[in-house]
Amino acid sequence: MHVRILGSSSGEPVPNRNASAYLVSDGTLRLLLDAGDGVAQQLVRFKEESCSIDAVFISHMHPDHAGGLFLLLQRMVISRRSKPLILFLPGGILPGFLDVFPYFNIFMERLPFIMNIKPVAAGILFSVQGTEVHALSNGHVAHYAPYAAGRPVRPESFSFTITGPDRKSFIYTGDIDNLAELNEAASDCSLILSECTHVSPDDVLEFAGNHSIPRVIFSHIPPELEDRIISIRSPRLDVQVAEDGEIVEV
Ligand SMILES: [Zn+2]
Ligand SMILES: [Zn+2]
Repeated sequence: MHVRILGSSSGEPVPNRNASAYLVSDGTLRLLLDAGDGVAQQLVRFKEESCSIDAVFISHMHPDHAGGLFLLLQRMVISRRSKPLILFLPGGILPGFLDVFPYFNIFMERLPFIMNIKPVAAGILFSVQGTEVHALSNGHVAHYAPYAAGRPVRPESFSFTITGPDRKSFIYTGDIDNLAELNEAASDCSLILSECTHVSPDDVLEFAGNHSIPRVIFSHIPPELEDRIISIRSPRLDVQVAEDGEIVEV
């Protein structure tokens, strides 16, 4: 299984990094983790075919993780995609969010492909041909709850564990509130692809060490910490900093 880094920024617009998006390929399936603003452009830039993506998993609805969805879908329509697409959206925004698509001139009955929209909920989300995606709820957007009250929206955020047909697994943290939220997902993972905007890189290294995760890739890089994160070394762990366009073998 390998992961193409399509966007490694923190969400703050910077010249050298795009917003969050990661394309997982296991040789058969192609899964997109998050669709941050600009993801359609990044797919073109790195010569990745959007029409062959089997499923899209949105961790939470911050624009740096979901804001590229509409242009991605428009590109799939214009390209006359015919392959069915599964779109996993945080369950707390459904069904109200479905009403947004027509405002972007995306009409389900006009799509040249079947789009199956499913809620992200904790547990096994996807299991096809030996590849599994497991969702873990986290508290990254819990502080919005008072503002969401009375509205057709329930703020939810998830991390994902992806396991390939060879049973190798990695954690994609998405955005998290604290690392302890990932405890139950940490066993038997060979890699943590971790944000480092809402948790400190040092805490991520400690978490990886405590859970015997041998490899850490820092992504979601805040520009003010970039130089420091690039300089981080660990005597025990394989540590990398994600760069847009790079392909990571898992
Ligand atoms: Zn976020
Ligand atoms: Zn983010």
